[in-house]
Amino acid sequence: MAVDPLIELRDVNKYYGELHVLRDINLTVGTGEVVVVIGPSGSGKSTLCRTINRLEDIHSGTVAFDGRPLPAEGRALARLRAEVGMVFQSFNLFAHRTVLQNVSLAQVKVRRRGRGEADRRSRELLDRVGLLAHADKYPVQLSGGQQQRVAIARALAMEPKALLFDEPTSALDPEMINEVLEVMRQLARDGMTMVVVTHEMGFARASAHRVVFMADGGIVEDRAPEEFFTSPRSERAKDFLSKIL
Ligand code: ADP
Ligand code: MG
Repeated sequence: MAVDPLIELRDVNKYYGELHVLRDINLTVGTGEVVVVIGPSGSGKSTLCRTINRLEDIHSGTVAFDGRPLPAEGRALARLRAEVGMVFQSFNLFAHRTVLQNVSLAQVKVRRRGRGEADRRSRELLDRVGLLAHADKYPVQLSGGQQQRVAIARALAMEPKALLFDEPTSALDPEMINEVLEVMRQLARDGMTMVVVTHEMGFARASAHRVVFMADGGIVEDRAPEEFFTSPRSERAKDFLSKIL
């Protein structure tokens, strides 16, 4: 896709002690692009996500967002975090807040919106993920799939320029996976820039512009989904695909 790069990692390396978890990572994600990241457990997918919104320090290389290097701290870093939403495997909703409050809270605290405006916007977003009728419930009253859709609405409430998903459906019962993927497919169609770590190959085939395959901290393949799934080049990818497909 010939579009403006929104996320750019250049020669990124990161270690945990002796362990080299990210190796010479070069990755560009364009505005509106959907990149699915797959690979074996421990290959560095979560670390890569966390690097993009600077939940992790790196040892060498550069990460840029929207044409600027990632800020190290302070208000600029808070602003970056608001622009790069993150959705985790565990939904991390506030248990003692209603669904509506969960979506409104950061809008008031970080975006400095008035409560009325925040709640109005939250209701719009809850409608978009099919949960408006549940606005006044508490997370425990919802299914896992519904909670994850609230988490997505909460991320969207910050009006992010990009969304990172780290195995958003891995903790869900099988019958709830599709309702979350459908919200994600719709976001992709709407042109949201997305980096998605997932084992859902159907989503990758249908919605990804590129598939990035990682192994041992490195990017081994970075290609269009159809090419990757029909003719993986590396032995690592062939082996991985033979186990999951
Ligand atoms: P993935 O998401 O692909 O399963 P991770 O990014 O979570 O991989 O982990 C990559 C490697 O880094 C693994 O070997 C993991 O054990 C290690 N690792 C992850 N987080 C930490 C940490 N906080 N401290 C030490 N090692 C870690
Ligand atoms: Mg992970």
